[in-house]
Amino acid sequence: MMQSPTEYLPRLSQELGIELYAQRDDVLPFPLAGNKVRKLAAEFESYAALPDLVVTNGAIDSNHCRTTAFMAAHKGIAAHLVLHGDGSDPSAGTALSMLESLGATVSIVEPQQIRTSIEEVAATARGDGKSVEVISGGCHTPAGAIAYAAVGRSVFEDLKPDYVFVASGTGATHGGLAAAAAGVDRPPRVVGVSVARTQERGTKPVLEAAAWTGTSDVQVEFDDRFRAGGYGLVDDTTASAVRLGWSCGLPLDGTYTGKAFAALLAYRREDVPTGARVLFWHTGGMWNHISRLTRSGNHG
Ligand SMILES: *Cc1c(COP(=O)(O)O)cnc(C)c1O
Repeated sequence: MMQSPTEYLPRLSQELGIELYAQRDDVLPFPLAGNKVRKLAAEFESYAALPDLVVTNGAIDSNHCRTTAFMAAHKGIAAHLVLHGDGSDPSAGTALSMLESLGATVSIVEPQQIRTSIEEVAATARGDGKSVEVISGGCHTPAGAIAYAAVGRSVFEDLKPDYVFVASGTGATHGGLAAAAAGVDRPPRVVGVSVARTQERGTKPVLEAAAWTGTSDVQVEFDDRFRAGGYGLVDDTTASAVRLGWSCGLPLDGTYTGKAFAALLAYRREDVPTGARVLFWHTGGMWNHISRLTRSGNHG
C-alpha cells in the first residue's frame, strides 16, 4: 500500500476549535498529481502483464491524464490520451507540453467523439499486434476504489477520526473511503463533497465504487451544496476556503480541495462539535491552483 503522511494541522485546529488532520495524498510520488497516483498505481498493478499501450481520456488539464502519462513513461509503455477542451487556453499549452515531454501522444476531440476516438486508437494498436488497456476517465476503476478502501481502513484504524471530508468527482476515492469506514470498529462519518455533479447524478458512481470493494452496508453521504455551479467553477465560499488554507500552510485549489474544505468549514459551524477529530483527505490539486493563477493573474 502506498503511504502518505497523516499530518496534524495546529493553526487550523486552533482556529476552528477541532482536532484537524490532513491525509496528504497531494504529496504522493509524481508531482502535482494527488489521488490519481494512488488510483493509477493500483490500476497498473492489477494488470496480469503490462500492456504495450494505455489509452484514456480527460480534459487537457486533467490530473488523471497527466498521471497516466507519468506512470506509462516510468514503466516504459506508450500512452495515448484522448483530450477535450480549449487547446488555446494559456494553461493548456503548459499541460500539453508536459504530456509531450513524457512521450505521450494526444488527440484533442469534441466531447461527443471521445468514445469513438478511444475505440479507434485501441483497434489500430491491436491491429498492429500490440496489447492495449483502456482506462476509464478519472481512473474510475475497481482497482482505484479498492486502493482507497485499503488505505482508508488503515488510516481510520490508526487515527480514529470522527469525520472525514474528501472531494468527490468521478467517485472512486469517495466510494473507497466510504467502504473503508464500513469496515472499521469505530466508523467515521465520511462526507464526499461534490466538485461537479449534482446529488442526483453523482451518488450512483460512488455507490458503484463502494460495491467494487466488496463491502456491503456502505453509507454514502454525497453533498452537492459546495460545487459552486459545476466543475472548475469557483464561488466566494470556495475562494475564501482556499485563502484560509494557504494562509495556514495548507495548499488548496479551487477545483477540488477548496470545495471539500469549504464544506468542512460549513459543517463545523452547523454540525461538527468542538473538539471533534476531523480528517481532511487531501486529494491534490496543486496543478489546478497554478493553472488558475496563470489564467487570472491574481490569487483569487
Ligand atoms: C480527480 C480528483 C479528485 C476526485 O477524485 P475521484 O476519485 O474522481 O472522485 C479530487 N481531487 C483531485 C485533486 C483530483 O485530481
